[in-house]
Amino acid sequence: MNMETLVSLAKRRGFIFQSSEIYGGTGSCWDYGPLGVELKNNIKRVWWRDNVHLRPDMVGLDASILMHAMVWKASGHVDHFTDPMADCRACKRRFRADQLDAGPWVHYCAAKAGNKFEVPAGEPCKHCGSRRTLCPACGKGELTEPRQFNLMFKTFMGPVEEDAAITYLRPETAQGIFVNFDNVLQSMRLKLPFGIAQIGKSFRNEITPGNFIFRTREFEQMEIEYFVNPKDTVNGRPADEYWHERWIEDRLAWYQRYGIHPENLRLREHGKDELSHYSKRTADVEYRFPMGWSELEGIANRTDYDLTQHARFSGKSLTYFDEERKEHVVPYVIEPSAGADRSLLAFLVDGYAEEEVRGEKRVVLRLHPELAPIKIAVLPLLKKRDEIVATAQAVRADLARRWVAVYDDTAAIGRLYRRQDEVGTPYCVTVDVQTVGDPEKREAGDQQVTVRDRDSMGQIRVPIGELTSVFERLFSGEGWTAVAARYPPRRVRGNVRA
Ligand code: ATP
Repeated sequence: MNMETLVSLAKRRGFIFQSSEIYGGTGSCWDYGPLGVELKNNIKRVWWRDNVHLRPDMVGLDASILMHAMVWKASGHVDHFTDPMADCRACKRRFRADQLDAGPWVHYCAAKAGNKFEVPAGEPCKHCGSRRTLCPACGKGELTEPRQFNLMFKTFMGPVEEDAAITYLRPETAQGIFVNFDNVLQSMRLKLPFGIAQIGKSFRNEITPGNFIFRTREFEQMEIEYFVNPKDTVNGRPADEYWHERWIEDRLAWYQRYGIHPENLRLREHGKDELSHYSKRTADVEYRFPMGWSELEGIANRTDYDLTQHARFSGKSLTYFDEERKEHVVPYVIEPSAGADRSLLAFLVDGYAEEEVRGEKRVVLRLHPELAPIKIAVLPLLKKRDEIVATAQAVRADLARRWVAVYDDTAAIGRLYRRQDEVGTPYCVTVDVQTVGDPEKREAGDQQVTVRDRDSMGQIRVPIGELTSVFERLFSGEGWTAVAARYPPRRVRGNVRA
């Protein structure tokens, strides 16, 4: 699949809109629509449940975005959080100097009478063999020498725009955790190893945002700082190295648990020259995005760098008292740092499928039921029959107390099913004439509805009174085949089976 298909689906079906679109939009900010906000909340909710609530060694935090300016001096962001940038002298566009060859480039080929071509990323022109030396966008301008550009958004705190009041929008949530280390440790009486998790917005003035929501200037991170005693050993290995490995395994398994195909995930170790100034080892979880393998999550061993720096700059002790050894230690920290938006993009890309069903194209988003924005759609087979509509609305209202359930009667049933498939709704419930009966023919309704499974398109007849228990079983992971085996398959009548 390509990114344009996804961008178009995301807009058409209310997942993601370009920010400020009526003013021409911004290239680097996106708004989550009615279905997008549900999907993103679901991702954050399962991440929090799995990493905080289900673990005895984790607690949560929600620190503020604006922090004391010294935080960013101590963390090294003021001096080091930079990317090299180069400008085109002709078109004035700005690029990350280290990524110039990562995208396709524009080329006026001498071997083809100076005609304009777009050459794929990193490749030479197949006509003349030359490689990109000029601006990749306009193909004409020389590029300036790389200059370091700080990615933090500067702002002013308080009513006076003076230097003393300068602060920054946080470029990562991690520092909020480090500066609260002692507060959390003391208030919660924690023992090493333990972790603090946080989900929140971060801001980076990226030189070249792009690839839809992959790289934006405002984004949401889901970060864990897992503190360990560097003097401890686990299974004969230093505790920090052991826990780093454990977190890498856990995080890879987490993406797969929610449906990411293992062949689209890989681990990439940072080379020694690439490691951040604080890192002993960093491994990136990469996903096979439409534009190629790219970072989904970084898992770094930040050592005792951050706590040591904050202790030095603040003058406050940020240590842990090791009861056994009767000494203060500065914990090491393992940081699994994921992006909520990048995860959402990966789940959309991985779930998207086009299939042929009875000669027609079906687009289906195979989102994990826990992530799907809508869990159940209740659909009337005929919207002209009042009893059908009323029953469908009552069924929806009842299910909505437990699950996100919607009602839709704006098209014929086949099309309604397709729409729900396209947004990843795992199950549809259809109310038809059989359900409510036909007084003219003196037929009583059977009070049964059709339940349809998104993935197999299988359909069963279920008494309305049993719907809640059926969905409880389905959403607890029992599986369609097991649940459906207890109910009769729906009899096919006319062409309404989809
Ligand atoms: P990249 O190399 O892609 O710029 P990074 O190594 O700077 O990423 P980290 O600082 O490790 O990223 O941030 C942790 C996670 O936060 C990333 O894996 C990603 O999921 C998310 N993230 C970072 N920058 C952005 C951004 N500009 N837009 C969206 N998500 C981001």
